Amino acid sequence: MSAFPVTRDQFDAFMVPNYAPAAIIPVRGEGSRLWDQEGREYIDFAGGIAVTGLGHAHPHLVAALTEQAQKLWHVSNVLTNEPALTLARRLCDLTFAERVFFANSGAEANEAALKLARKYAADHFAPDKREIIAFTQSFHGRTLFTVTVGGQPKYTEGFEPLPPGITHVPFNDLAAFTAAISDRTCAVIVEPVQGEGGVTPATPEFLQGLRELCTHHQALLIFDEVQCGNGRSGHLYAYMGYGVTPDILTTAKGLGGGFPISAMLTTAAIAASLNVGSHGTTYGGNPLGCAVAGAALDLLSDPVVLAGVRRKHEVFIAGLHRINEQFGIFRELRGKGLLLGCELAEAWQGRSREFIKAALDAGLLILVAGPDVIRLAPSLVISDDLIVEGLHRFERAIASLQA
Ligand SMILES: *Cc1c(COP(=O)(O)O)cnc(C)c1O
Repeated sequence: MSAFPVTRDQFDAFMVPNYAPAAIIPVRGEGSRLWDQEGREYIDFAGGIAVTGLGHAHPHLVAALTEQAQKLWHVSNVLTNEPALTLARRLCDLTFAERVFFANSGAEANEAALKLARKYAADHFAPDKREIIAFTQSFHGRTLFTVTVGGQPKYTEGFEPLPPGITHVPFNDLAAFTAAISDRTCAVIVEPVQGEGGVTPATPEFLQGLRELCTHHQALLIFDEVQCGNGRSGHLYAYMGYGVTPDILTTAKGLGGGFPISAMLTTAAIAASLNVGSHGTTYGGNPLGCAVAGAALDLLSDPVVLAGVRRKHEVFIAGLHRINEQFGIFRELRGKGLLLGCELAEAWQGRSREFIKAALDAGLLILVAGPDVIRLAPSLVISDDLIVEGLHRFERAIASLQA
């Protein structure tokens, strides 16, 4: 161990300045609680940005990780490995999918999905069918392709020239989409519940309409469930709750519960376009990530856990309504399962970040989704007691800001 203490100041001295982390440095977590260097305790309503869906250091995940760590860490895709095949088979059993591709992050899963859609079009259709439609306020990752497909221009500014052939249409606007799609469209990518863009669920009619029009125009429908998947919506994957099945589904965040792993799920017929050598990644499907994700899936696919997510949603919404009766700071409370968005009232718009600091001071970790929305993404197995205590702290934070 280094003799030098680690301090927040060192971040600015040694790290590229693309992040601006909070002043505290957490050193330990257990369930829905974290402790910082000073031993101060925090309740976690942030979940590492919707990642630690089973809380911190869940014994079942720790056991899977340590067991695999003693056997095999990495072999590359020149060989296959047991945890990857076991996980792929289970994902196929549990979803519409017949084939799986593993990667390490949400952006990589989406990059694979978008490349597959282009390749599938190249294999089956005329050269003018290559266009991709995405939605404003969407977020699909930070590689140049995925950030361009994402619908937030602030994330592409300065990175031009951008990949061509991508159109953006307003979210939840079926008329605008109907006008935009054509036989030149090869793929449509959508988050069933927009996360970063403001925690906005798609309407059922919107997703149903996308499905019908994609089928009609022979375009692939991609659901980006990087954030809303893995039980967070109260269903194993959000598409199941909507009853609308995509052609390709991408997921990451909660899949490994904090261990980096992502997956792209699709059918055998579509998957055939990613033939040998056409795409790949060194770490994708590595034994450690797949072992942890397999353990996470044991819990995330449990109907009791999923029913618990839907019930805790009601507990949160009721508590947030009570807070709003007192302070009148929310214009709307929305979301699915344990992905919750509190849109700030007129007088508070643009100030969401101030709530992060105030909540930290009150011993609570929360997130934002843009300047006007506070986002909560707690563990899916958080106890009711900690929900109540966390909401008390949230109330204190709000009171301190109002004072
Ligand atoms: C976080 C996120 C991504 C990007 O995932 P990374 O692991 O950061 O690359 C993509 N899509 C959605 C919907 C996300 O929430």
